[in-house]
Amino acid sequence: MAELLTISETDLKKYLSDIRQPSFRTAQILQWIYQKKASTWEEMTDLPKDLREQLASHFSLDSLKLVRTLDSDDGDTTKYLWKLPDDKLVESVLIRAPDRRTVCVSSQVGCPARCAFCASGKKGWIRNLTSSEIVEQVLQIDRLLHKIDERVCHIVFMGMGEPFENYEAVTEAIKILSDPKGLHISHRKITVSTVGIVNQIRRFADEGYKVPLVLSLHAPTQELRQKIIPYARKNPLPDLLMAMLYYHDKSGRDITYEYTLMAGLNDSIQHAKQLAALVKGHPCTVNLIPYNPVEGLILKRPIKEDIEAFRQVLEEARIPTTWRYTKGKDIAAACGQLALQTVS
Ligand code: SF4
Repeated sequence: MAELLTISETDLKKYLSDIRQPSFRTAQILQWIYQKKASTWEEMTDLPKDLREQLASHFSLDSLKLVRTLDSDDGDTTKYLWKLPDDKLVESVLIRAPDRRTVCVSSQVGCPARCAFCASGKKGWIRNLTSSEIVEQVLQIDRLLHKIDERVCHIVFMGMGEPFENYEAVTEAIKILSDPKGLHISHRKITVSTVGIVNQIRRFADEGYKVPLVLSLHAPTQELRQKIIPYARKNPLPDLLMAMLYYHDKSGRDITYEYTLMAGLNDSIQHAKQLAALVKGHPCTVNLIPYNPVEGLILKRPIKEDIEAFRQVLEEARIPTTWRYTKGKDIAAACGQLALQTVS
């Protein structure tokens, strides 16, 4: 089987130099892949035929096979379920807003964080995705959009998996996706969402990444957080918040704390006051997400009045707050739900 091409300039350049091709071939091929959206080597008609055949025997340009798509009733969200070369399933979501097309990508098959409210967490971690498998989720959706004169302009690492548990592949994917010779999506349009790994957040800051960073907070105390995210045990809340502030200082990016509101668990006025005290003075926005029910889990979405009351406490404390309506509710768009439904 052909090896999947890590579609980076460096790898391509090295391969072409090894087989004694002229240096201009790299730019020519990258242009076919990223600007002309070619999905096969045969389409690259200005390359010599024997080179195309040689490339095709070594590298695959589409290792993800589309198994199923699902559109939300309002048409704003489409979920893609892909089969990987080893038959594992992974998913991506396209979110359409009037001014942008955003792709939510997965970084792992399954997830080690095992968040109580999440479908992906139910089966635990299975394997890491390669950088190519991450990039290809965006590339394949971008090819489909290209046919209707649209393009992917934002990326969020909020699908299946904990991105910082697959640090090398995720950062390599960010480099490829933001490369001017690639899809050229700037750092400020790529968001990474993490449950919080202190040393990886600091490393990300030290290595000069400038992407918006989102911490899945979900609780205002360490004790409650550990119940919701068992993985949080390894990363105490004070250390984690210090790491987020460090990232802000180094990258210049504001930070976001995501807080999924679950009825009777973390949505009381007392929780709101604790949260306000915890993040007071941080250069942050708190993004409130009413829980999106998952089949097989007993957690519930709070009623609207309780969400409003929670939000009001934060606003009175002058904490910038948004309330995110979870798009794609009718297509099981909470992370991992489609893959879980298909395999179970
Ligand atoms: S919410 Fe995210 S981090 Fe938590 S189990 Fe699901 S995929 Fe993993």
